[in-house]
Amino acid sequence: MGMTIDSMNNPFFQQDILSSEQYTKDNLNILVKVSHQMKEVVEKHGSLDLLKGKLITALFYEPSSRTFASFVAAIQRLGGGFIPLQGITYSSVTKGETLEDTVRTFACYSDAVVIRHPEVGSAKKAAAASTVPVINAGDGVGEHPTQSLLDYYTIVERFGKIDGLTISMVGDLLNGRTIHSLIKLVSLYPSVKINLVSPEILKLPEVILDKIKKKVKIFVTDRLDSVIAKSDVVYVTRVQKERFTDLNLYEKLKHYYIVTPQLLKKAKKSTIIMHPLPRVGEISADVDSDPRSVYIKDQMRNGVYTRMALLSLILSRN
Ligand code: ASP
Repeated sequence: MGMTIDSMNNPFFQQDILSSEQYTKDNLNILVKVSHQMKEVVEKHGSLDLLKGKLITALFYEPSSRTFASFVAAIQRLGGGFIPLQGITYSSVTKGETLEDTVRTFACYSDAVVIRHPEVGSAKKAAAASTVPVINAGDGVGEHPTQSLLDYYTIVERFGKIDGLTISMVGDLLNGRTIHSLIKLVSLYPSVKINLVSPEILKLPEVILDKIKKKVKIFVTDRLDSVIAKSDVVYVTRVQKERFTDLNLYEKLKHYYIVTPQLLKKAKKSTIIMHPLPRVGEISADVDSDPRSVYIKDQMRNGVYTRMALLSLILSRN
């Protein structure tokens, strides 16, 4: 590859990735550059052998399609091997094994552990027990710092910058871990404006809001139609059914917002529509063919390139 990063300049070497708070403008620049190189290499050659001889465990205690598969794709395109643990029902976890013991085991078998777990803070707990780097692939309603990386890369790829953009975050801001991670990232740029669009009951947690509002301009509303015309990015999320104890309440809220071609008539030509997926009705299928929709092709592909970048930086010195 064209650019190499020596170990002194590689801030990710042997590091855990637990929260978006670990990203800085400088280390994001490195990730964007390396992700771009990964994209070029994959498009030209399909794969490379940066992780030859390395093994990575994918330990998933919660359902996942894209995150799991894109990590596996990233590992394989880098020439590495993986230990998949997705059907946790068939593992010793069902015998009552602690998270710490499970992680200690896989740290002995592999060079890194990617973990998804329903509890907030579980990745941190896993990292404390592990002798190899741990990557948080979603800890309950906490964070999803590799999704935010691909989201960030998708925005930068389209606009060439984050500075000055108006970003509307829509839907379940209370439980949506992709929102919790992405908002920390984009608020590194003081000239960004963030519209928080949700029903009152699904508002962004105060602890996050308090930190963010010191950094960037925030506008809170429950009306998507009132902000759509001024948005550069419309980041839509699903109402997180699995976090509700009252399913009647979920039913009432699940289609609070539906992005339709009609609504998008108000949006700018340059606006992009994002979604971490899966969607369950909050973006209608006839929006998919709109050139402003980036949730199918761009975000999905970028998920592989950014995870390739992150894994190679964590596991190889330069
Ligand atoms: N796939 C994303 C996540 O794991 C978004 C979602 O499930 O709504 O958080």
